[in-house]
Amino acid sequence: MQSASPQAPLVRARNVHKSFDQLEVLKGIDLDVAPGEVVVILGPSGSGKSTFLRCINHLENIQKGSIEVAGEQIGFKPSRGRLVRLSNNAIARQRRRIGMVFQQFNLYPHMTVLQNIIEAPVGVHGRNRQEAIAEAKALLARVGLSDKADSYPRQLSGGQQQRVAIARALAIQPQLILFDEPTSALDPELVGEVLSTMKDLAQQGLTMIVVTHEIGFAREAADRVVFMDGGHVVEMGKPEEVIGNPQHPRTQAFLSRFL
Ligand code: ADP
Ligand code: MG
Repeated sequence: MQSASPQAPLVRARNVHKSFDQLEVLKGIDLDVAPGEVVVILGPSGSGKSTFLRCINHLENIQKGSIEVAGEQIGFKPSRGRLVRLSNNAIARQRRRIGMVFQQFNLYPHMTVLQNIIEAPVGVHGRNRQEAIAEAKALLARVGLSDKADSYPRQLSGGQQQRVAIARALAIQPQLILFDEPTSALDPELVGEVLSTMKDLAQQGLTMIVVTHEIGFAREAADRVVFMDGGHVVEMGKPEEVIGNPQHPRTQAFLSRFL
């Protein structure tokens, strides 16, 4: 949970601009996320939410502004008073601190659940295989799927697959985890189990940025809610402020759809 202490932010985004050719998608985003904080981003389709998450782990280049994670600028380093683009290796190293969970779970279909989870720690990060297996089993327990280690993704429900994807994102021991509409592809009856797993993680002190349309989750689990529209942060604050008493007409119009 967010504390009142003037702790250095884990994520510090300043004046972030991102365009695709002529289309300006992010028009100066400012956002700080404190360690352990859960930030939910709401906003209409096309407002730039996914693009912003993708900029945080440098899946997209930004044209202006800066994004720091744990005090290090993503994608660039200062050198002789200028910013120099990092090497691919250095960017890969930065990405290892950031987990990501997508709408489509993207599990490897030919690998078991356990193999999916240890793939990055062992194959990419060179971790000891036995240790990674022990940790993967602990992570499966954490997402309530201890009995599925040897199953293949096709043998699982969508909700179970997404919980495996969450365990896989946690397996790299990220400092920050980004969720992009993690329940949007699920049948309605499977949404609850994934949200409840995410609420558990939120309570365990993980730093999370969650793009979702699940207003109930935002209300219950978020320390802060950010409303984005048209590439801008229109409004942000505590859930009871932004959801309970939105000030901006665009936030009010967006939320009225959920009443
Ligand atoms: P959201 O996640 O809020 O729905 P996105 O970040 O996906 O919004 O998209 C914001 C805008 O950027 C949309 O108009 C979308 O079409 C555009 N966009 C996203 N990715 C690309 C891309 N790779 N190339 C061109 N346009 C893109
Ligand atoms: Mg999106």
